[in-house]
Amino acid sequence: MNWDEYTLWAKRIADWGTEYHKTLADRPVRAQTAPGEIAGQLPLGPPEDAEGMDAIMGDFERIVMPGMTHWQHPRFFAYFAANAAPPSMLAEMLVNTVAAQCMLWQTSPAATEMEGVMVDWLRQAMGLPDGFSGVIQDSASSATLSAVLTMRERATAWRGNREGLNGQGRLRIYCSDQVHSSIDRACWVAGIGQDNLVKIGTRAGGHYGIDTDELAARIAQDRAAGCIPAGIIAITGGTGIGASDDLAPMLAIAAKEDLYTHLDAAWAGSAMICPEFRAQFWDGVEGFDSIVFNPHKWLGAQFDCSIQFLRNPQEQRNTLKIEPEYLKTSGAEVTNYSEWTIPLGRRFRALKLWFLIRSYGLEGLRTRIRNHVLWAQELCEVIRDMPDFEIVTEPILSLFSFRCVGDDALQQRLVDAINDDGRIYITQGMHAGAKVIRFQVGQFDTTRDHVLMAAQVISEIRETL
Ligand SMILES: *Cc1c(COP(=O)(O)O)cnc(C)c1O
Repeated sequence: MNWDEYTLWAKRIADWGTEYHKTLADRPVRAQTAPGEIAGQLPLGPPEDAEGMDAIMGDFERIVMPGMTHWQHPRFFAYFAANAAPPSMLAEMLVNTVAAQCMLWQTSPAATEMEGVMVDWLRQAMGLPDGFSGVIQDSASSATLSAVLTMRERATAWRGNREGLNGQGRLRIYCSDQVHSSIDRACWVAGIGQDNLVKIGTRAGGHYGIDTDELAARIAQDRAAGCIPAGIIAITGGTGIGASDDLAPMLAIAAKEDLYTHLDAAWAGSAMICPEFRAQFWDGVEGFDSIVFNPHKWLGAQFDCSIQFLRNPQEQRNTLKIEPEYLKTSGAEVTNYSEWTIPLGRRFRALKLWFLIRSYGLEGLRTRIRNHVLWAQELCEVIRDMPDFEIVTEPILSLFSFRCVGDDALQQRLVDAINDDGRIYITQGMHAGAKVIRFQVGQFDTTRDHVLMAAQVISEIRETL
């Protein structure tokens, strides 16, 4: 492809994107395809001869688009949102065009320095004290793995130990039973093992925070049994029902036991740019060693963009840093963010935050989040009043769960039928051993009308079952 063709297609694709977004609300939210349907339309082998962009783009529309679930659809209420606000998409176009590797300061000074400043902008926006720094990772899963590895390192000094984990005793990490599966996976990958991730029950009602009495008792028991407690992982805004721990009492236990602490606020963290939500959920947050939140969820930065705040980045660097000769750079003291993370190669993720935050201002972003919380509460009241429906968990920020009268199988049939209908998209979860229907409001372009329409769709589809 020459650059004249590139220009032609770049402009066409930009126009295609505008049209796509303007007509998005008319499409079914979840892809309405069967497994294998898309792969079946693709040639089994690669072409020997070059093909033109006309053919490629034509096939994209004909084959690929019918197989897409529309995450930017204003009636996407499943999982959590993965918002791509238009200014962040434009920044990503620029990043893709310049296509730099941002592993070291020297390999892209602007990317490194912008990253430091954007992390600090968000630190201020979220009311974290001066002194926290941080890094932008691809995902909360990676940040959590980094934190778990640091817990392991701190407890065992394993890195310098040629015998590996042999003979170190059993490490233990503690969390509530409401944490995301990425915590389990981090513990397997770090070699700590599922059995050594101790899940503590939560207190019923409120925000379903961890039972801190049980937490303290388990740590004491484990020490008595010769285990090595290594860290505590807290959650603000669990995936199932939004469970959020009371942070201050957990941190008090961690301080007493000298444990490394990590907070997973992947979804709910975005709401902490609003002081009223910090007051509700983040009392004591400044005591954490590591905090992760995903601007690529609720805030509006196009995927991927996960911020990990660190109180003392040196601990994570001690765990992950490696500097072979070919990565050494001479000269002044600079930050090389690849020493803070597991992958070496890094994208320029800070630019989309710069575009996003400047385009809306913090106040514009707060307004969206506050509206989502408000509309979720409104919808919750409408569903509460619908015959044959009950609210199971009250809204925590913009997430609540409900059931229709009937067994678990009926809940799943209702969810599936609603998603087959296509006007809205929702997903199920488990709470207290029973299947619930989750509802979260968080899509960047959703309106009150879109949210309230969901009640109509839910009751209408319920009638057909
Ligand atoms: C989405 C989510 C994660 C995982 O985030 P990734 O960035 O996809 O790894 C972890 N924890 C919580 C609470 C989440 O909502």
